[in-house]
Amino acid sequence: MGTNVLEINGLYKSFGTHKVIDGLDFAVPEGSIYGFVGVNGSGKTTTMKMALGLLETDGGVINICGERVCYGKTAEGVGYLPDVPEFYPYMRPMEYLMLCGEISGMPKSRVTERGGELLNLVGLGDRRKIGGFSRGMRQRLGIAQALLGEPKLLICDEPTSALDPMGRKEILDILAAVKGRTTVIFSTHILSDVERICDSVAFLHGGKIALSGPLTELRKRHMDSYKLEFAERADAAKFASLDLGRASPAYVDESIASDGAELDGNVVTIKNADGARIIAALAEARLTPIKFELLEPSLEDMFLGVLK
Ligand code: ADP
Repeated sequence: MGTNVLEINGLYKSFGTHKVIDGLDFAVPEGSIYGFVGVNGSGKTTTMKMALGLLETDGGVINICGERVCYGKTAEGVGYLPDVPEFYPYMRPMEYLMLCGEISGMPKSRVTERGGELLNLVGLGDRRKIGGFSRGMRQRLGIAQALLGEPKLLICDEPTSALDPMGRKEILDILAAVKGRTTVIFSTHILSDVERICDSVAFLHGGKIALSGPLTELRKRHMDSYKLEFAERADAAKFASLDLGRASPAYVDESIASDGAELDGNVVTIKNADGARIIAALAEARLTPIKFELLEPSLEDMFLGVLK
């Protein structure tokens, strides 16, 4: 078992009477790219701000690299990319990184060396002033700044949400490239971004983690959707109608197809179903599919399952 870079236990936070975080537990293993997923307003930023020591908690413990996080002080070894990073528009990227290095007490020579490497990593030159940068370029400079101190943990708040597809891809590529050097947690409501680069994911819902873990494990655990293909369209239609409980009462069984069966030509797709029961239903109705496939669940299927 590897160690956890970030550990959150029993976290609570309300704003007035609005309970936003309600007993949240989760852990980010070292070396992972962790997707922190939730709909807008679910409390992702609130959680991250508490992990950064920027917001007081109402209860619970947050540890980063084994050290307890205290309000008012960001833990050592943490880099942060806010959702909309702010810069001095009149500065050039290197000048800005030099200023950040100076503020954090890094030796000048180290900042020059590391700054050059980082601007290269994020694909920014040093000719233009930040004021003329696109959103994507600002975000990339934000990542360079967050990585300047060689953090063990990089916390990114919705790094791709405001970007066009090209800008999103650039950010995701950069985050994927730093894997192995730093652990990354990024919040998002864009599931395809998680699918693209994350190895683990946590779904935040109702102030708690509703589902979390390595993506491969979650996929295995949620292998409960099936695709059946029939030679005849009529057989497919008959099978789909069985599952929907419109045939004889023997087939009115929610566990066969709790999400209902979807019919498309001679193919039937059933979600959240029990394979053995499907086979029993097929036998009883004397229907033989020409293909019977267990489907790999998408993140969207899992997330929608959580939101129900
Ligand atoms: P997310 O990042 O998932 O979109 P947030 O953490 O920004 O969600 O917000 C979660 C909820 O907390 C929202 O309903 C938001 O309006 C509320 N909230 C966040 N910050 C404050 C604040 N400083 N005062 C009052 N309500 C807040």
